[in-house]
Amino acid sequence: MKKLSLLTLLLCVLTFSCKKSDKILNEDQQNKVEKEDHSVYQFIKKLGYSDSEIKDLGSEYLVDGDILFAKNELPNFSIFQQSPKTKQYGTSYYVGYNIQPNITVRIDPSMSAYASEINGAIDMWNNVTNSRINLTLTSSTSQDILITNSNLGSGICGAGYFPVDGRPGGLIRINISQIAGNSFAQRQRTIAHELGHTIGFRHTNWQASGEPIGGQLPDNNAYFYAMHLLGTPTGGDANSLMNGGECGIGATSLSSYDILAVQFMYPMNPPIAGSIPVFRYSAGGYPDIRNTDHFFTIDITELGNGSSTYSFEGIGFFAFSSQVSGTVPVYRYRRNQYADHYYTTQSGSVSGYTFESIAFYAYPSAINGALPVYRYYSDSKADHHYTKNTNESQDLTTNYVYEGIAFYAY
Ligand SMILES: [Zn+2]
Repeated sequence: MKKLSLLTLLLCVLTFSCKKSDKILNEDQQNKVEKEDHSVYQFIKKLGYSDSEIKDLGSEYLVDGDILFAKNELPNFSIFQQSPKTKQYGTSYYVGYNIQPNITVRIDPSMSAYASEINGAIDMWNNVTNSRINLTLTSSTSQDILITNSNLGSGICGAGYFPVDGRPGGLIRINISQIAGNSFAQRQRTIAHELGHTIGFRHTNWQASGEPIGGQLPDNNAYFYAMHLLGTPTGGDANSLMNGGECGIGATSLSSYDILAVQFMYPMNPPIAGSIPVFRYSAGGYPDIRNTDHFFTIDITELGNGSSTYSFEGIGFFAFSSQVSGTVPVYRYRRNQYADHYYTTQSGSVSGYTFESIAFYAYPSAINGALPVYRYYSDSKADHHYTKNTNESQDLTTNYVYEGIAFYAY
C-alpha cells in the first residue's frame, strides 16, 4: 500500500536577540552584516535556510518559493510562555479556535478580475466537511486576509504568510503576470494554495523540494517545525494541492489527504486529548447494491487512501485506541453475506455476522462532551452507517433508516 505522505503544519516557538555590529566595514561587508543581523533574517536562517534560499523582496523575505516574512514584523511568541496552552489562543502558526469559522478575505481592487478564481478557491476550503474552517469575502478593510496583485518576479506565481498569533496569514500576493496564461483551474489552484499557507499548511512535498524541516535551537526555545499530521502519508502525496513548485501544473483540488489534514487540524468539534481519528471509507455496492459498505478504522494502513472498492472519506469521528476512563469497547463485525460492517458496544455473537476485532473505544453516554454517533441501516443496500451528522447526505435521509445512537465520540 501507499506508505506515507505528509501534510504539515507549522508550529513555532522562539525568542531571539538582535545583535548590532559596531565595527567599521566596507560597504559589502556592511550590507552583509545588516542582512544577517536583521532579526527576521536571523529567524529564517535558524529555520534551516541558507542565504541563497532567502530571497529579498524589499520589505519582505521569500522562502520555499512562496512563503513571505515581513521584515518589520516578528510574531509575538509570548503565547508559548503561557501554560497551559489553550485552543482558544492557538499557536503562532495555527488559526485560533474562535477565528476558524470567521476568516474574512478581502479582494484588493488589483485582483478584482480574479474574483471567480478567488471564490472558487475559498469554496475548496469551505467545502471540507467536518471542518471548522470557513472563509468569507468582505469589503471591510479589517479583513483577516488581503489578496493583492504583486510583481514577485519571474517564476513566482504567488506568495503568502503563515498564521501569526492565532490569526491567519494576513496577506496573499498573486503575480498576475505569471498566472494570467494559466487555465482557470490552475489560477484558482494558485490562490487556494496560498490560502492553505495562510491557515498554517506547509508544502506537502517539502522534503522532496529540499525545504528544511524547521529550526530548533539547542535550548529548545526556538521551534519552527514541519509537523506530520496523523493519518497522512509521510513520503509525499502527488495529488496534494499544497505541493510547492507546481504553479500551472499542480493539483486543482484538495486531495483526500489534504482534506484529512484540514479535518485533523481544524475539526468541527475539537477532540479531547488522547482521542484519535477514526477513518471513514465507503464502498459503492458494485456489482451488487447490497455490497454497499461504510467502514471505520483507526488503522490507516488497513485501507490507506482507499482501494479499488473503497473510497477514503476522511475522519468520521474521534475515539480512543485503548480504554480510557468511562469508555467501552466498540466491537466490529463483518457480515457473512455482502460487504457490511457493523459496530456495536454489545459483545457476543451477532446473527449473520463474524466478529473481527475491537474497533476502538467510545463512550456509552454523553460524558466528557462526547457527541452522539448515530446508526443507520439500509435494507436495500444491506449497509450499516455511522455518522455524527444526521443530515450528511440525501442518500442517508432517503435510503437509510435511523436506528438510534450507537455510541458517543468526538
Ligand atoms: Zn506554497
